[in-house]
Amino acid sequence: MSEVTQRAGVTTHGVASGNPAASSTAQLRCIEENCRATYSLDETLVVCPRCGGLLDVELNDIAEPARRVLPGVWAERRTSLAPADTSGVWRFREMLPISASAPLVTLREGNTPLYEAPRAAEYTHIDQMWLKHQGANPTGSFKDTGMTVAVTHAVRQGARTLACASTGNTAASLAAYAARAGVRAVILVPHGQVSSAKLAQSLDYGASVLELEGNFDSAMRVVRELAEDGSLYLVNSVNPLRVEGQKTVAIELMEQVGWNVPDWIVVPGGNLGNISALGKGFIEMRRWGLLDRLPQFAVIQAEGASPFAHLLAERKRDANAALDPVADPRTLATAIRIGAPVSWKRGLRVLAETGGASIAVSEREIADAKAILGRDGIGCEPASATTIAGIRKLAANGRIRKSETVVAVLTGHLLKDVDYTAKYHSGRLTEPEGAAPGGEPKPIKGAFANPPARVPATRAGILDYLRRSKQDSSVE
Ligand SMILES: *Cc1c(COP(=O)(O)O)cnc(C)c1O
Repeated sequence: MSEVTQRAGVTTHGVASGNPAASSTAQLRCIEENCRATYSLDETLVVCPRCGGLLDVELNDIAEPARRVLPGVWAERRTSLAPADTSGVWRFREMLPISASAPLVTLREGNTPLYEAPRAAEYTHIDQMWLKHQGANPTGSFKDTGMTVAVTHAVRQGARTLACASTGNTAASLAAYAARAGVRAVILVPHGQVSSAKLAQSLDYGASVLELEGNFDSAMRVVRELAEDGSLYLVNSVNPLRVEGQKTVAIELMEQVGWNVPDWIVVPGGNLGNISALGKGFIEMRRWGLLDRLPQFAVIQAEGASPFAHLLAERKRDANAALDPVADPRTLATAIRIGAPVSWKRGLRVLAETGGASIAVSEREIADAKAILGRDGIGCEPASATTIAGIRKLAANGRIRKSETVVAVLTGHLLKDVDYTAKYHSGRLTEPEGAAPGGEPKPIKGAFANPPARVPATRAGILDYLRRSKQDSSVE
């Protein structure tokens, strides 16, 4: 520790004294096998300046005896009222690369519930299924768990303008955290392809919202150019600090299941930051001796935006196949309407290490899965429901066994896309534009549609309606 930081009573890159240990010498390392260059975290790099590859944070492993007491330390912090302890991300700070003792940009993210879901379990033909609901984060999606770390680091390094390309949720999250930090957020969204609720959040949090002519992938391309020349600091999940925050979801989940590793963790796949982060979290916990095995992962995509599912199928024929981007991705699950996922190499690395699968599901399967979750009293946005559709499919083809334990990660809140839900229940949901070239948009007939009834405003009228209608409880 330098004299300066000692005098101030804090470390800038370690963990405050009093904790079991500090990962004080974490560094960045390029993931490309033929590069592997390392950099200091202080450089606020987002990609490798030498080869353009993705960067990983490499933690300095803490010593064995200190590692083993971590679950106890983390559990104890749940009774603390200190900001760093009430955050469900910073509570796990021994596994984060930057200090929690200097000021944090936090909205008490994380701390999300793990639910049982009997109806959804029955629908998927799985005995034991849990839902980790990341929609319960401050801005309604899992993006907050990564944003608190990325924005905290950026602000400490002196960044004044933070930017992202987004299908809506990263934008809402960045906008909120930038507002907390008092710095500018610049948000690039594809015009007309973001739900109005998500856009409204970013506007309310005071971000500069730029609606681009083009899709998410083109917004991503432009924002990376701006980041490379130093005009903006990029906080998309390509940013390795985002991955660090998001990986704490894996730790919180393990606490909630009493440190019994589930057989499967199932996530939707868009840009593939989430699978990269959860995988990293599990792999590091295993390396630190906190787990005795790893779960398998399943990454579920929508059929019209499924380059990663295709890649996995392709790899069975050609072990060196690279991702083939989808030029014009289409799905009503706008959070995963991504044709060229930035983190595909990280995602692939996780599946190679843990085993697992990636498959695609149809719009109809997503819509019905979402409605089934609703019947358990649990809402989510369309992208999140791919998990349930995917589990049902993987169970049907025997890849997931009925007796295996499964956790579906619900990534976003129901109210993120009310329009979709209202249309589903009133029979007005249609396949995404362009899916069936020419002709009328094809309706999606929901198996669990629950349209409102129009009844006379009289006692007799209402009683008559209740007698005639019966609540349908079947899920098949
Ligand atoms: C961002 C997001 C996804 C996709 O996550 P990736 O990390 O891009 O794969 C899925 N669902 C929701 C609700 C999201 O906000």
